[in-house]
Amino acid sequence: MTAPLPPGSTIGILGGGQLGRMSALAAAELGYRCHVFAPEADSPAMQVAAARTVAPYEDPQALAAFAAAVDVVTFEFENVPAATLDRLEPLVPCRPGVAALRVGQDRVLEKRFFEQAGVAVGAWREVTSRDALDAAVAELGLPAVLKTTRLGYDGRGQAVLRSPADLDAAWARLAPRPLILEAFIPFEREVSAICARGVDGAVVTFDVTENRHHRHILDLSIAPAPVAPEVAAAARGAVVRLAESLELVGLLALEMFLLPDGRLLANEMAPRPHNSGHWTMDACLFGQFALHVRAVAGLPLPEPGRHHDAVMKNLVGPEVYARWGELAARPDVALHLYGKAEAREGRKLGHATRLLPPGSVAEAPEPHYLSPL
Ligand code: AMP
Repeated sequence: MTAPLPPGSTIGILGGGQLGRMSALAAAELGYRCHVFAPEADSPAMQVAAARTVAPYEDPQALAAFAAAVDVVTFEFENVPAATLDRLEPLVPCRPGVAALRVGQDRVLEKRFFEQAGVAVGAWREVTSRDALDAAVAELGLPAVLKTTRLGYDGRGQAVLRSPADLDAAWARLAPRPLILEAFIPFEREVSAICARGVDGAVVTFDVTENRHHRHILDLSIAPAPVAPEVAAAARGAVVRLAESLELVGLLALEMFLLPDGRLLANEMAPRPHNSGHWTMDACLFGQFALHVRAVAGLPLPEPGRHHDAVMKNLVGPEVYARWGELAARPDVALHLYGKAEAREGRKLGHATRLLPPGSVAEAPEPHYLSPL
């Protein structure tokens, strides 16, 4: 067992986005310093970091200097090249390690890993040629979703195929990148579960969250998800099984589809803090960023201790962001803004969590009525 990092130690964070920013803020509460490594200057995480390196993820000198300057490394961005962690791992503990990063970066590896760990997934086929796409469509039927295996997020790099006439256009747009075809899942809800696993193997989980998307981007997270207790238990069990089978140290988030018959099918995982866990910062005694930092630093992991129900709204794009003043005036809303210089369309600029008395979500006729906006 590794001793906890003493206060004053430095946590290295690969990636400069809002997840790194909120991790760095949580680390500061425990007396840690954060050194952010990212290619972009003045990124949300850099603004609150004690030290920064602005360099490409592939820069060997910058990585060696970074490894020498920090006590442990984590990442907030799952598209950090695996080669970057390969280079760092011999020099400094990396939590989570490269194995979790590799699996989380590739939808085919992810699907195989879910199946090996006994976590159910929808039907899927690897697609490596135009002929293979025809064969996969013949096997899975339509509708189906064609996705790039790597670098897709917020609905980018995917196409819904509804009729055979859609195949050519989808292929033209997404190939020659490696692709995966997934059967279209007629889900009732989308839910996610997040767990934190410590250096000693202890695991804690957060309440399961329901997620609603708008234009493929997470819009609302509703916690606790209004699902049957056995569904919630199964979702928590699945993410724990995955974290244990990866021997992951840190956070793992698992997005799942809930079918009308109560079955869960895993969609994708992220070995890092997750947008659908932002509500935990304000509605739990120990939120996802606090538990992430604790896991990475080798500290004990207390139960999250949720004390409120919560509905989190992402502030995406300039129009919603413009309402920050109204949200800041609300006594029931915790507002978090990410310090992004440019308020572009489709960009996550902040989030607002409405805190509600326990039981509010279960009693609401439609939980999205409880949204802060
Ligand atoms: P993803 O990038 O895989 O998280 O997909 C983004 C969103 O597209 C998901 O949150 C779902 O709303 C939808 N989606 C993705 N894959 C499927 C699928 N196989 N069946 C139905 N909807 C899907």
